[in-house]
Amino acid sequence: MQPFWCKYFGNPASLYKFGREADVAIEKARNTVASILKCRVGEIVFTAGATESINLALFGIARNYKPNAKNKYHIITSQIEHHAVLESLKQLEKEGFEVTYLPVNSFGFVSSRDLAKAIKPATILVSIMYANNEIGTIEPIAQLSKIIHKTNRARKASQPKIVFHTDACQAAGYLDINVQKLGVDLLTLNGSKIYGPKQTGILYCKHATELKPFIFGGGQEKGLRSGTENVPGIVGLAEALKLVQKNKNKENARLKKLRDYFIIQVSKKIPHTNLHGPDERSLYTMHKEIRLPNNINISFSGVDGEALMLYLDSYNIAVSTGSACASATTDPSHVILAIGKSPEIAKASIRFTLGQSTTKQKLDYVLNVLPGIVAELRRVQS
Ligand SMILES: *Cc1c(COP(=O)(O)O)cnc(C)c1O
Repeated sequence: MQPFWCKYFGNPASLYKFGREADVAIEKARNTVASILKCRVGEIVFTAGATESINLALFGIARNYKPNAKNKYHIITSQIEHHAVLESLKQLEKEGFEVTYLPVNSFGFVSSRDLAKAIKPATILVSIMYANNEIGTIEPIAQLSKIIHKTNRARKASQPKIVFHTDACQAAGYLDINVQKLGVDLLTLNGSKIYGPKQTGILYCKHATELKPFIFGGGQEKGLRSGTENVPGIVGLAEALKLVQKNKNKENARLKKLRDYFIIQVSKKIPHTNLHGPDERSLYTMHKEIRLPNNINISFSGVDGEALMLYLDSYNIAVSTGSACASATTDPSHVILAIGKSPEIAKASIRFTLGQSTTKQKLDYVLNVLPGIVAELRRVQS
């Protein structure tokens, strides 16, 4: 990113040499991203983060339709999406769209049958996340897209086709994000979840998918996202994606081992520990990836998650309660509630996220101090 702050400072839209160098860098980044997503270069839109990509995807499709008393257009999502999806759809509900929030099972999976049943003639858009940010559930996107394609094939030429969007922020570091295999029309990624720069994002938009922009101006990014491009950000985002995707198999295996070690040890050391989300150690799932390798969401019965988080912070251990991006609110996590847990358990749940800097030694440090802290909190809270 460094040279693009100073040395190649030019505006990519300008025709002088300094500008062209910046433009070349953006197009190089676009090529890198397209080769990872296995899509055309022209199908990549750079944005200022996942929230923006999601807004562009959802409003961009919805704005093709004008709901009225006769036509109430219909959108399908899941109950466990990120707030960027849920709040956008709440706004679209206010504007007259009808939204179905699919339930999930006790592990957080959306079922293909539920999706098939929810589709109506008025359905125009489906948005289901690739992997959940709180409990790590990996949704069967390729399976879900088959149902949508089948529905689209059966529709008359005059009927609108259903567009399928997936929020893949959490998946980008660990899973295959080949859009052909996933069968999606729109896919959101961001830099901040893959060690890239914050406020950088990608929207994959399959050719012939008509999106209406909501940012107007100089017409950058094919008119879908006007405004001078964030050249260092785009360069950094593409490089980050390249690096995590290159190392994903190795890192996946390393973290899975650490994750399962931690889950086993913590359950052994602390009575009444509950794991939330899918358990990959179960025999049924040996050959399937069903949980992100970096996600551990647990609760200790009777221990308030927020109190525990603050206590752990004083030991330099950083954990999250609910979704990291919305921790200003103390509402119980909508995701933990959606998998059927009580508000008490939802308030007790905390998330240990593993990453590149996580080692067995660091986990052992946590495993050493955690039992005492939990016992202390149980004592004072009971
Ligand atoms: C972090 C995250 C977002 C929001 O990303 P920003 O870059 O902060 O806008 C959206 N969806 C998921 C699943 C996320 O994890």
